[in-house]
Amino acid sequence: MNMPKNGLKREPRLACALTLVLALLLPLGLAHAAAPVQEKVQLTAPETVARGDAFVAEVVSAEPMEGATFFWRGKRHAVAAREVRDVAGAAPVWRAELMLPAPLGEKAQSLSLGACAGKECKQPEATRKVGLYDRKRPVQRLTVDKKYVAPPPEEAARIRRDREKVAAALAQRLPERQWELPLDRPVPGTVSSLFGLKRVFNGEPRGMHRGLDLRGAQGSPIRACADGVVALVDDLYFSGNAVYINHGDGVFTSYLHMSKPLVKPGEHVKRGQVIGLVGATGRVTGPHLHLGLVVQGESVDPQPLLAPAEQVKPAPAAGGEKK
Ligand SMILES: [Zn+2]
Repeated sequence: MNMPKNGLKREPRLACALTLVLALLLPLGLAHAAAPVQEKVQLTAPETVARGDAFVAEVVSAEPMEGATFFWRGKRHAVAAREVRDVAGAAPVWRAELMLPAPLGEKAQSLSLGACAGKECKQPEATRKVGLYDRKRPVQRLTVDKKYVAPPPEEAARIRRDREKVAAALAQRLPERQWELPLDRPVPGTVSSLFGLKRVFNGEPRGMHRGLDLRGAQGSPIRACADGVVALVDDLYFSGNAVYINHGDGVFTSYLHMSKPLVKPGEHVKRGQVIGLVGATGRVTGPHLHLGLVVQGESVDPQPLLAPAEQVKPAPAAGGEKK
């Protein structure tokens, strides 16, 4: 159906025949195949993303737009748009942004991202290919109390309940976006353990490290990475004293191993607000903060989204993780 237009001018009979064919195809929704493809919305996203990272996709419209819908990994995500003026006096544009995950386990070499204008639209009006690549994720060997490698059978029910509580917290919806990038650093300490490390506890492989460990002295303050609503405060078997914050539009942060949480579920918190104190509760080798970032249900690396460390002197290697 890719008949060039100039073919129509030269051959009136052919043009008639084509018009007839088009008229027959129109009800089938195939007529657009003959026209040059023009995307109705302006969609931007990075060309490549590391597996384990999150990225921000954006739809911009010069026309008023209540929101946008994004299509990623078989799911539909509708978000509200904001009216913004980049320069004082300039005409406004409507911008809808969504944070999306490129999960560690994603096998595809590239994925298609789609978007359409509006919160109810059902089909992408623009698509982009996002290439995926791997970062090096070394193995980390740690020694912890053996109850965290082979939990006693009587703890099985508690561990299961913990998982259910976290899943329920991460299922909470907050339609208004509260996050801004970069995320605030929750503690000034440097990184002691990267996201995505393959971990071996007491000689036994135990999956991936699904967060970022930051050095912090026992009892030092932990600050919220962004505005949000506290989704969970609990003492969990592996995570110890944990606080989960919902930042809206499917973005959550978690702060584990606290000595003391200082917020309650349902509480609204502001970026930079102290939400707890650094500790060594749960499966740890010493006091530190484990910072988690969950985007649309997938754990991703918080580090690329954190504000750069300022005037932070690297702490001695002893902080947090015994190796
Ligand atoms: Zn950790």
